[in-house]
Amino acid sequence: MASGSPVKVEIISIGTELLLGQILDTNTKFLTGELATIGLDCHWHTTVGDNRARIKECVRLALERSDVVLTTGGLGPTPDDLTVECIAELLGAPMVFDEAVMADIAGKFSKRRLKMPESNRKQALRPDGAQILPNPAGTAPGIIWQPAPGALSAAGVSDPGRKRVILTFPGVPVEMVAMWKETARPFLISSFGKGVIWSCDLKHYGIGESALAEMHADLLDSANPTVAPLAGRGECRLRVTAKAESEAAARALGLPVIEKVKEKSGPLCYGVDDDTLESVVGRLLTERNLTLAVAESCTGGLVSKRLTDIAGSSRYVKLNVVAYADEAKRDLLGVHDYILKTKGAVSAECAHAMATGVRRIARADIGLSITGIAGPGGGSPEKPVGTVYMALVAGQFQTDRKLKLAADLPRAEIRHRSASEALNMVRLFLLNPQLLLA
Ligand code: ATP
Ligand code: MG
Repeated sequence: MASGSPVKVEIISIGTELLLGQILDTNTKFLTGELATIGLDCHWHTTVGDNRARIKECVRLALERSDVVLTTGGLGPTPDDLTVECIAELLGAPMVFDEAVMADIAGKFSKRRLKMPESNRKQALRPDGAQILPNPAGTAPGIIWQPAPGALSAAGVSDPGRKRVILTFPGVPVEMVAMWKETARPFLISSFGKGVIWSCDLKHYGIGESALAEMHADLLDSANPTVAPLAGRGECRLRVTAKAESEAAARALGLPVIEKVKEKSGPLCYGVDDDTLESVVGRLLTERNLTLAVAESCTGGLVSKRLTDIAGSSRYVKLNVVAYADEAKRDLLGVHDYILKTKGAVSAECAHAMATGVRRIARADIGLSITGIAGPGGGSPEKPVGTVYMALVAGQFQTDRKLKLAADLPRAEIRHRSASEALNMVRLFLLNPQLLLA
């Protein structure tokens, strides 16, 4: 690498399954995203099958044009796992048997009380001169190798004096991720890192992307950290990205901006990064020691599914009912025939009765309901597709919401957005019931 020019990284994913379209190359996606966080630019993605000549040609080309080459796949013990052999052959290095690696692999088998197949001995071979990239999650280790200039010129690579590094990872995603985090990432930061990029997504509900951008217009021109709005499925995010020498320094740059956004956004900001409406609702219900019961119609159980996706939800979810037919709403939840006949199943009155009914049956603190027309059929001029009512009942407190979603939205989208709105109602109620009355 010429001093001052940016480090070029190339990722080679190896496996015939990838070329046949049988698996999706999520390893490359993961590694590319991670490289960005440590300020390294990925210039090329290459995919090649389990073929000796073609793997060697891809690695040679990558060494020619890149500084850092990451490979995934083909580290297993079977004959079609060729990665390390091919790299060694290309660079003219003999394979050496690493006793320490062998002992580690044998230890992993005996710990699981399994007999080690003879073929696993192959995984203890490494090219002479390469270091081991340990695999904490499986048997096959990878290598970290900075080939000597002589090896590079023997392989026909030009400018052999320039530093190149090859890192190999297995195909199995959990193993690759563990190796990346424990060894490869710190290694690349110390060898090539020009700073660390740290980012945080501030998740918002109940405001559109452009309104959110307007609200925080004063922050959008900032250079470091940068603040950028991103749209999602009925939600949006503000991504705060800071760059500095270390993760701690980048975080210290980002945190004051995050606090500013949170303060101005108030309850519109529901969480950060991996938070979801359902996980936040779960956290609030747990903190307040309250329980919830849900009666759904048009969402067919989606609110319940999302609530119970969260581990530990049995602490606060008491009952989920999908009452699709009018009779079920009447017989199970106690919705009066009068309401069904005069107002219809898609009405604020029916939503209130469903929430009251499910709360009573479950003896829950909060009853939530949702009833609407998800389409594409079933709409009318008064109640077009996308009309959804939801109600929340808790003791003396009762409120409802009417959603008027675009009738041409796909059914799945109408259901997803309705479920989000219902979950957000619960979130706002738990923060402060007055927020729902505003
Ligand atoms: P093993 O010891 O399992 O053979 P390996 O390092 O040889 O590991 P591969 O045989 O190439 O890896 O792939 C093992 C499995 O890992 C594949 O069947 C596939 O499920 C998954 N995998 C491989 N490459 C990728 C990739 N690029 N993205 C996502 N998953 C992958
Ligand atoms: Mg394999």
